[in-house]
Amino acid sequence: MSGSPTAHHRAATLEFRHASKRYPRATEAAIEDLSLEIPAGEICVLVGPSGCGKTTAMRMVNRMIEMSGGDILLDGRSISERRPAELRREIGYAIQQIGLFPHQTVADNIATVPRLLGWERDRIARRVDELLELTGLDPQEMRERYPAQLSGGQRQRIGVARALAADPPLMLMDEPFGAVDPINRERLQNEFLRLQAEIGKTIVFVTHDIDEAIKMGDRIAVLQKGGVLAQFATPADLLMTPASPFVEDFVGADRALKRLALQRVRDIDLWRAPIVRVGEPVHRARAAIADSDLPFPLLVDAESRPVGWLSERGLLGERVTPELRSRATPTVELDDILRDALSDLLTHETQYGPVVDAQGRIAGVLSVEVISHALAAPASEVPSPTERLE
Ligand code: ADP
Repeated sequence: MSGSPTAHHRAATLEFRHASKRYPRATEAAIEDLSLEIPAGEICVLVGPSGCGKTTAMRMVNRMIEMSGGDILLDGRSISERRPAELRREIGYAIQQIGLFPHQTVADNIATVPRLLGWERDRIARRVDELLELTGLDPQEMRERYPAQLSGGQRQRIGVARALAADPPLMLMDEPFGAVDPINRERLQNEFLRLQAEIGKTIVFVTHDIDEAIKMGDRIAVLQKGGVLAQFATPADLLMTPASPFVEDFVGADRALKRLALQRVRDIDLWRAPIVRVGEPVHRARAAIADSDLPFPLLVDAESRPVGWLSERGLLGERVTPELRSRATPTVELDDILRDALSDLLTHETQYGPVVDAQGRIAGVLSVEVISHALAAPASEVPSPTERLE
């Protein structure tokens, strides 16, 4: 894929090959010897405690910081063969403080790199509008505004749009949501994943927040002081099998619960519900119960929506009567995150919860046992961050 330097690739591979960095006068290397291969089109999160070398590693990629030894290859080609200015035009860069030019309009800010590349005015204008739409902003309303007239979230989106302007095969994102409050951060993270599902870029994403790393990463590189790679794995693998006490400590004691946050109810094998309806013959209801994983039947209404758990008294006559032992609460939705569903079951002090689809119709039964099976399942069954989107 490494054609002419001006060719735009959808996504590039990135490889650190024994890369190192020693700052002048520093007694220890910021990066001792880092080797890492990032596949094209994936989000790789660099995470680790402050001072471990995340920012240094990332900034070596676009030569904002020159490495001291080893090599970094973009689509198989050494970055040291490239002129830094040319390289930076090919690599999108988005940072926490966003760094928009205050005296330029939104359109001019986004157009920075295309103008440097000498694109024609019409092409730039089309690209600006396309990017505004892609990042969820109204071109008409936004084009002529100045950064000071925007909310924090809007500035963040413009920063991402600007980084994407020339369709770079690689994006570097340095704590991009670090300055945003938790609620907006959650929204921007989801938006960004949705955007990534469309654009499929290779992304190097730096954060110190392990929860953000788990949410955003296809793969996570956990770094230790000196840029030492403590583990490079998918979020599920990292949570299931931390490679060392350092990683185990860094991911936290609640790693099983964190892993449950990676899956939705629809991603796991649910129990078949023993469904019965009022008025149906009791012998048929008893057959449904015998065929299910649960000891008692679930009464549903005419639209197949759960009503409650039937008591033995409901089966005493010839036909099922609506005698309940309890209401069907909580109901769990197929789109619920497993961690939230478990929390719902625990709050209601129940072992079982009927699962419903978007129309409220019964889809199965979630139990504490089913969840513990999911925790034991191989990490390969856990969907990627963009697949996890609803
Ligand atoms: P992180 O991003 O993980 O917090 P950094 O890459 O910023 O880590 O820093 C890694 C190490 O390099 C730290 O020990 C830091 O003090 C040192 N360092 C970073 N920048 C410089 C610099 N310009 N000069 C000297 N040392 C630096």
